[in-house]
Amino acid sequence: MRKKLTGLVALAATAALTLSACSSASVGSSGGSSDGAGKSIKIGVKFDQPGLGYQDGSKHTGFDVDVATYVAEKLGYKPSQITWVESPSAQREQMLQNHQVDMIFATYSITDARKQVVDFAGPYFVAGQDLLVASNNTDITGPESLEGKNLCSVTGSTSAQKIKDQYSKGVNLLERPGYAECVTALVAGQVDAVTTDDIILAGLAATPANKGKVKVVGHPFSTENYGVGLPKGSKATCEKVNAAIKSMIDDGTWQKLVDKNTAGTGYTPNKQENPPAQDACA
Ligand code: GLU
Repeated sequence: MRKKLTGLVALAATAALTLSACSSASVGSSGGSSDGAGKSIKIGVKFDQPGLGYQDGSKHTGFDVDVATYVAEKLGYKPSQITWVESPSAQREQMLQNHQVDMIFATYSITDARKQVVDFAGPYFVAGQDLLVASNNTDITGPESLEGKNLCSVTGSTSAQKIKDQYSKGVNLLERPGYAECVTALVAGQVDAVTTDDIILAGLAATPANKGKVKVVGHPFSTENYGVGLPKGSKATCEKVNAAIKSMIDDGTWQKLVDKNTAGTGYTPNKQENPPAQDACA
């Protein structure tokens, strides 16, 4: 009954006021909105990370987009009811706090610092920080070999933070708003390496513009648990999202989405860590 009403609301937008009242879009305090045009959900994703969150004309593709679409469906939102909103690394917490988005699926690592200001469901994937270098580079083999090098990463990321905290000695860190900009700088010879999660680097390295020019070093030096960012106080939504993630893993969809979105990149997820079990909601 709930599903049927939901469909009617979307189709008969003008007559939807009374219907929408009994087919509430609410999935907790923060799961979406319902108005005269029917219910909808604003989901934050990356627009510039091929294979993860990528805007291709009017289409959004990638693992984060596919996982978000699956989870949204379980929460009662059809793909047509999703509004994709760009969520750059440095703006994610703020976008959740301001309710510019209802949830974020954007290679968003669960960290204690971020948990002070936002909630996380998940994790739904585990990546590791790595380095991208020119294909003919032989001297950069890990974060210890960055002394005297120009390195690019993204403002507000755990990747840039880890370099500052642990590997900053003699490293010239350049921060950009997105990883694609870092890879452009690498291909142009302006930096010696780019650092972030291995799966992000693999996706960027496999694009036609970069293929053959760059390579992932392949020695991950962190554990990045990708969570679903939610506004603080979203325990009920968090539990629903976790149940959806678990069913996505159990029904085989997770593996299919990983395979589909990493095809042609040479990337394989860390088998010890994936697929992950979900944390209890705070
Ligand atoms: N997973 C890391 C983070 O959340 C790096 C990737 C990103 O910036 O989205 O900061």
